[in-house]
Amino acid sequence: MADTSTVVPSESLLSELDEANRSLETAPPGTIIAWAHERFAPDLVLACSFQDIVLVDLAVAVDPGIEVIFLDTGAHFPETLEFVDRVSARYGLNLTVTHPGPEAAAVPCGTDGCCQVRKVAPLRRAVAGRAAWLTALKRVDAPTRAAAPIVSYDEAFGLVKINPMATWTDDDIDSYVTDHDLPVHPLIEKGYLSIGCAPTTRPVAPGEDPRAGRWSGTGKVECGLHG
Ligand code: SF4
Repeated sequence: MADTSTVVPSESLLSELDEANRSLETAPPGTIIAWAHERFAPDLVLACSFQDIVLVDLAVAVDPGIEVIFLDTGAHFPETLEFVDRVSARYGLNLTVTHPGPEAAAVPCGTDGCCQVRKVAPLRRAVAGRAAWLTALKRVDAPTRAAAPIVSYDEAFGLVKINPMATWTDDDIDSYVTDHDLPVHPLIEKGYLSIGCAPTTRPVAPGEDPRAGRWSGTGKVECGLHG
């Protein structure tokens, strides 16, 4: 496996990304995706949790063949896996599904290191040799994401990281889903407003922070993909 964490970006790349980040701060997601496609395709991938598919819908409008990566941890809700199949068929996605390596057998679901072996390491393997990734991260998702840039260099994965929806709110997402008649993950109507793996996700009460249902009561707030 290539150790992409050792990749050192050039000063000129960092300067270019800095400039792009500034100029794209107020751009709509479609414009940001188009920039990313022009600059990095075919070495551009999209990582999607399939909680919602707004980013997928926007990205395939720019590049119908863009590679979409789904991290199958082996612990997803059946509804999530069915939703992935449904969305993949709808768009004819160029879908890559990752799986944990054999080392995951020694790391039970939900324990320390679980996300590392079921998400981070498989993603690292999937993006080896690529240049950039698109994510659906939003600043409103969590305090840890409040200052997320539009474009940056992701040292953890050795990739340029592009967050086209960083400035969007949950209402923006809902409006887009409604306006474009997108399919909705079936667990959302059951109170799962942030959907991860089944062992570490619970529904939230009305008015509760959506991400309070993730790793509830453990103090953990991120899985390692975004810091
Ligand atoms: S979200 Fe939970 S079950 Fe899924 S990989 Fe992370 S710790 Fe494991």
